[in-house]
Order: sequence, then C-alpha cells, then structure tokens
Amino acid sequence: MRTNNREKAKRRSSNWARSFTPNIPEDGVCLAPFTRLIVTRQAYRICCPGWQPLGRSGSQGIASSSIPPMQAWNSKRAQSVRSSIIDGSYRFCRTCPALHDIACGSCIVPLDQVTDEYVRNAIKNKQTALDRPPTILHLSGDRTCNLQCPSCRTRRVMQPHGFPREKQVVDTLIGAHTQRIGLAGAGDPFASLFYRDFLTTYDFSKSPNAHITLATNGLLLPCYWDRIANDRVDLISVSVDAASPLIYEQLRYPGKWPDILKALNFIGDLRRRGKLKTFMINLVVQQRNWRDMPGFVTLGLNVGANVIKFMPIVPRGERVRDYAHAAIQMPEHPENAEFVEMLQDPIFRRDAITIHLGPLRHLIRGAAPDTVDLPQEMLI
Ligand code: SF4
Ligand code: SF4
Repeated sequence: MRTNNREKAKRRSSNWARSFTPNIPEDGVCLAPFTRLIVTRQAYRICCPGWQPLGRSGSQGIASSSIPPMQAWNSKRAQSVRSSIIDGSYRFCRTCPALHDIACGSCIVPLDQVTDEYVRNAIKNKQTALDRPPTILHLSGDRTCNLQCPSCRTRRVMQPHGFPREKQVVDTLIGAHTQRIGLAGAGDPFASLFYRDFLTTYDFSKSPNAHITLATNGLLLPCYWDRIANDRVDLISVSVDAASPLIYEQLRYPGKWPDILKALNFIGDLRRRGKLKTFMINLVVQQRNWRDMPGFVTLGLNVGANVIKFMPIVPRGERVRDYAHAAIQMPEHPENAEFVEMLQDPIFRRDAITIHLGPLRHLIRGAAPDTVDLPQEMLI
C-alpha cells in the first residue's frame, strides 16, 4: 500500500512537472545551483525546500549532511538540479517564486550576462560536476541562540561545539574563490561560539573577495562588533517580529524591547556612516503581530534600516502545531478580512524605504509587484 501511494505521488509530481512552464527570460539561467551551498543540520541544500523540494520527503536537499562537503556539492541530486537548469526544464523548482512572477531577489540572469567565467563555461559545456567549490556559502547548522522564541523552540539551545560538519565546510570550501559567507539561519551568529570564533579569527586575506551576510536577532551584535572582521560585513538582517514592547517581548523571549532598540539604532548608525550597505529588518507575519506591521515600517525608518521584509509564517518545525491559528494570511482565518484591510494602508507604499512583502503583496489592491532589488545574498 505504501509503495502504491508513493508511486501515485511520484506520478502526480511528474505530471505536475510535465505541465510546468518556467517563466524565465530568454536564455535565462539560474546561477544558484552552480554557486551556492547552504549547510543545515539535516542536509546540504541549494535553495529552501519550499522552493525546491528534493528527495523522497521533499526536504532532503542535495545530500545528507553526514557526507563530506565536496561530495555533497557534486552529489547525484546536485548534478540533476544543474542539468535541469541547463536543459531549461527547471523540473525541481516548480514552487520557486522566481519562476512565478513573484520578485524574490532572483538569481536568474541571461547567460551572456553571467560574469563568472567558470559558471558560464560550465553551463555552455553542459558540465554538471564542478571542481570549484561554491562561491556563496551559508552556514546554518548551529542552533545556538540567546533567545527562545516560541515560534522557533521551546527551550534555550546551546551547542558549545557548534555543528561539527561546519568546521569541515569552513576548512575545505572557503578560499580565494569565495564571494559570500552567510551566518546563521537556525541560531544566532553571536551566540554561537563556533560562528563567533570564525568571525573573529578566520584569516580573510585567504579570501580577498569574501563578503559576509549576518542574519541575527541583533541583541548581541553591539557587544561583539569591534571584535569581528566587521569590514567584511556588508549586509545585516535582523529578525525583530514586532514594533511594540509587549509583542516583542512575547515573540522574542527573553529579549527586552529597550535592548533591541539600542541594537537597531547601533546598526542604523553603522549604515549611516557608510560601514554597511544593507540593513534589513524582518517581521514574520502571524496572528500575534500583524497589527504591528504599519508601526514596523515607521520603526525601520526611525532606526535607519533601508530594507524591510515581511514574510508570512510557514508551517515549519515547532511552529506546525499552531499554524492554523497563526497563519493570518489564510482566507479562512477569522481575522483575515481585517488583516487584508490593514494592508491597504498607504504606509506600505512608502518610497523612502524598500518594503519587501513577497506573497503578501498580492493582498494589496492595485499594488505594483515587489521590485527585484534584493540582491542574491539576501536569499540566504
Ligand atoms: S530556480 Fe529557484 S528553486 Fe531553482 S535553483 Fe534557482 S532559485 Fe533555486
Ligand atoms: S532569534 Fe531566531 S534562531 Fe533564535 S530562537 Fe528566535 S527565531 Fe530561533
């Protein structure tokens, strides 16, 4: 019976893939499978599983994180994804927003505009095994965090030794070719001893072109900023999730509102002084915080952010349990009509700051699409 169900699912999926027509510019190629590797506890990935479901469960990425990094980079699945870009079928990417007219910081560019010669040649020569490691690397295996947000975990997580595979990734994949290193995704780059140590001690003269993206809750950043290789950091993305003390302190437990305000002003000041290209603040929209959305735009303007990103909550990890109650974007949610009305507020059309609404933009009547101005590094 199980096999039958699996076969049925496979058939459904291949029918779907057959009828799927990727919406890409002529000669457009997605560079992600040729340049990017995301390391998580479970798997190596190129993109998030929501965009690119791989493996039997859809969330297995290009390889299990139990194998060495270069082996994963050229795994059978990684090579299949690359060949689907080369043949233009994009058959593993059917839910990618970049292929459905939703601007998302697309990595799709016309082949003749690909500046990276190695990638351009690989695509032209239909080469799917790559001897050059990824140029964009995102480390997301260490869950250590100073907070325990209820949407993320039920207890404080500390991993004193980090995620061991990531040490091997740092030792074998980072080098002269590296363009960008992103930290972190499942924890905080300043709470993690491993990430902090990397930011403090890695010899960046070995990677002269490497820039750093920091995804953080922000609270520890002011304390460590002067001790890390901060001249490499050009993008800081802070998950805040609220614009008021009560909601912040509920959603970012045990963070305190005055502390996050102090940290946000510190980062805004870095940007004003030209030390930072992009300062983005994020809010994962859910039932508990949607009323804070207009105030979040004001907060961004006040603290000196230049990008605000709103993302609807997705059923992931420990969030799954109360997803139906949290998912305010769903039409059947009792507060959805009020939520959609709030989104018509002209504050979401402010020109003074880039407001990225992703799929929520479709709920704003007459809104222009998001501008595709999020650089590729923001995807990680
Ligand atoms: S098309 Fe989308 S899902 Fe596919 S590799 Fe590119 S960014 Fe990832
Ligand atoms: S700050 Fe981020 S990583 Fe830390 S507990 Fe909250 S959601 Fe999870």
